[in-house]
Amino acid sequence: MQDQIQRHHFDDYMVPVFSPASFVLTRGQGSRIWDQNDKEYIDFAGGIAVNALGHAHPVAVKALTEQAQKLWHVSNVYTNEPVLRLAKNLVEHTFADKIFFCNSGAEANEAALKLARKIGLNSGQADKNHIVAFKNAFHGRTLFTVTAGGQPKYAQDFAPLPAHIEHVDYNDLDAALRVINEKTCAVIVEPIQGEGGVVPAQIEFLQGLRKRCNDVGAVLIFDEVQTGMGRTGALYAYMNTGVTPDILTTAKALGGGFPIGAMITTDQYASQYAIGDHGTTYGGNPLGCAVANAVFEFINRPEVFDAVKQRSEQFFTGIQALNEKYTVFEQVRGQGLLIGCVLKDEYAGRAKDLMTLAAEFGLLVLMAGPNVIRFAPALVITEEEVNTGLACFEKALASFMTV
Ligand SMILES: *Cc1c(COP(=O)(O)O)cnc(C)c1O
Repeated sequence: MQDQIQRHHFDDYMVPVFSPASFVLTRGQGSRIWDQNDKEYIDFAGGIAVNALGHAHPVAVKALTEQAQKLWHVSNVYTNEPVLRLAKNLVEHTFADKIFFCNSGAEANEAALKLARKIGLNSGQADKNHIVAFKNAFHGRTLFTVTAGGQPKYAQDFAPLPAHIEHVDYNDLDAALRVINEKTCAVIVEPIQGEGGVVPAQIEFLQGLRKRCNDVGAVLIFDEVQTGMGRTGALYAYMNTGVTPDILTTAKALGGGFPIGAMITTDQYASQYAIGDHGTTYGGNPLGCAVANAVFEFINRPEVFDAVKQRSEQFFTGIQALNEKYTVFEQVRGQGLLIGCVLKDEYAGRAKDLMTLAAEFGLLVLMAGPNVIRFAPALVITEEEVNTGLACFEKALASFMTV
């Protein structure tokens, strides 16, 4: 047998910044996925809140293959039809007037933070370049976004870091109000901290940030890379809060698995970037935008949002029932199909063990830090797939209790 690809090739050939599971996935259909040994898994991970339509959804496959026959890439020296169609869709269905496309969440946040610095500069006010962010936040892995993120372990080894970024406790409005002042050009916040443990923001916290940003002339940036595109049962999570940001970043589910990101904002702020101020080679490429358009138009319908809410209830009820039997979780939290199960103190640090066990029993789940099991499945996951997955999860829990 020549050149059989195996898991050990990861260690042989890949830069060791990840430690993927012991199996290699080869194909998927809906919320089912198979590995090289044809073992079947239910997918509650959704590629980390990316595969909004599950795997190989006919709508996405059709958009991809049709566009693949026509035009893949032209650069931003020329524009194209799919990018303009997607921009029009995002503008017509959100607070935004203008869109900047890129390829990932980090790039969307990079574009947002750079824009905030430019807005501060254009204000003519001295030193209006301070950024307020939150502990445990996650905004991506570029140097600027990793510094804005609130987990020092991801940034400290790469010093010197961009200056004037301050972190305060999430959901602590008083602490935020103490540091947001006339020198602040931006506040960046996730409506639900995803990587930080699936922690929802309190509405009063977001309202308070909104008001203070207005008072000091700072832009409010919502990082909706994880919460956006229907994840919470609304197109964007800000729509559930009554608080509208000035800039919003979106990626992950936007392309349903095709890499794409966007920064969306109002005319007032978009116009502070001049031609040449920022850019990208691939951003807005026809292939990605055609897929994202198909995903967007599929998701942005009341029946899809209703289904997200129904499946969410099914998850919460199901996990609660399992927890009555196994008493392993302190709390189950989140919104829509972004759900975090917080391990009790006695199991602290063991989310990885439970995740590994779940895979043994045929279920893919995520962690969100060492103490939280996270579910972020396809928005179109079926009732049957949720039930089957929860049955696998029960087996994993039963086994977890005995080790
Ligand atoms: C995943 C994530 C990012 C980073 O997105 P990438 O596509 O990995 O660069 C940024 N912010 C939030 C909230 C995320 O969940």
